[in-house]
Amino acid sequence: MIPYGRQDIVNADIEAVTNVLKSDYLTQGPAVPRFEQAAAAYCGAVHAVAVNSATSALHIACLALGLGPGDWLWTSPVSFVASSNCALYCGAQVDFVDIDPQTYNLCPIALEQKLVDAEKAGRLPKIVVPVHLCGQPCDMSAIAALALRFGFRVIEDASHAIGGKYQGRAIGSCQYSDITVFSFHPVKIITTAEGGMSVTNDDTLAERMRLLRSHGITRDASLMTHEPDGPWYYQQIDLGFNYRLTELQAALGLSQMERLDAYVARRHQIAKRYDKMFAALPVKTPWQHPDGYSGLHLYVVRLELDGRPEGFHRTAFQRLQAKGIGVNLHYIPIHTQPYYQKMGFKQGDFPQAEAYYAEAISLPMFAVMTDDQQDTVVAALAEVLQA
Ligand SMILES: *Cc1c(COP(=O)(O)O)cnc(C)c1O
Repeated sequence: MIPYGRQDIVNADIEAVTNVLKSDYLTQGPAVPRFEQAAAAYCGAVHAVAVNSATSALHIACLALGLGPGDWLWTSPVSFVASSNCALYCGAQVDFVDIDPQTYNLCPIALEQKLVDAEKAGRLPKIVVPVHLCGQPCDMSAIAALALRFGFRVIEDASHAIGGKYQGRAIGSCQYSDITVFSFHPVKIITTAEGGMSVTNDDTLAERMRLLRSHGITRDASLMTHEPDGPWYYQQIDLGFNYRLTELQAALGLSQMERLDAYVARRHQIAKRYDKMFAALPVKTPWQHPDGYSGLHLYVVRLELDGRPEGFHRTAFQRLQAKGIGVNLHYIPIHTQPYYQKMGFKQGDFPQAEAYYAEAISLPMFAVMTDDQQDTVVAALAEVLQA
């Protein structure tokens, strides 16, 4: 089976992790801050806060921005459930904004319309989470202008997008957002096994996220309610969690970062080759906005279903799997999940997202994919579409 995504582990990664295993610190040592500094420098952001997953990063990003009961968070229905679950963890409510049919990202025009309506109803969101689907950056300058006009905060879910750029700046520069979140799950662009990172230019948000990732406990006397009782003293000043990244993971992440640009460049080569080879097939290849340089976590094609029998998309998917092609579907629209339907969302609520779901297939895309593997994928898809 050719997987849709997989990690690349080289000897330098293994050595970096082994060195940590032989060192004094398996957690809370020097590797995590080193990884954070490297990530912040790479993104051109002031602070980076490493955590044990992007899900955790989204959760404490929402808390740091003060999201709570009575508040709303809006995001794209075409994302992983973590993009919206983070609001529910905080006791807030979720709503979605339909996608742009060309980029598959949250549509800024739909967002503006929904904000105008929400303002009239007195239900403006506190946070909007644009998701850079497949690594392609959202229209961040338009979203930032709306944030200013309607007074919401912005968390970029860049789980697919590390190594990409928007208007010439690294994704994570937070030029148009409060916080940007990355994931280091093995299918993503670089990996720490499990792991995530928040970057921000805001000192207070960074301090709040550092506190929340480790129980809400501080050893910083300036944050305490009174002078420390002694050198052993710490204070819990908020309710936090254990969301820490280990030293082993940070060392792996730091080692992987060395190859980040090469990985993304290789993904672009693969995408260009797919684009060319699919030119004559009845599929819609990914459209790339000229403002962005995608991280290209995923390569999604949409099948052209005109004149096809009912259920063609599903059978095409199954036939590709049967041929050993590890296709996937990113994503089942979140509002159609049973948990969300219980909250009142219905089929038909976000037509563009649902139309995308009826046609999309994620094809294998990973940095160490070979041309031979790619040829196998293309031949399999061509055969399935001939039927
Ligand atoms: C992978 C992913 C997440 C969650 O990442 P974890 O590190 O697995 O918690 C969140 N949002 C999106 C868009 C993702 O693809």
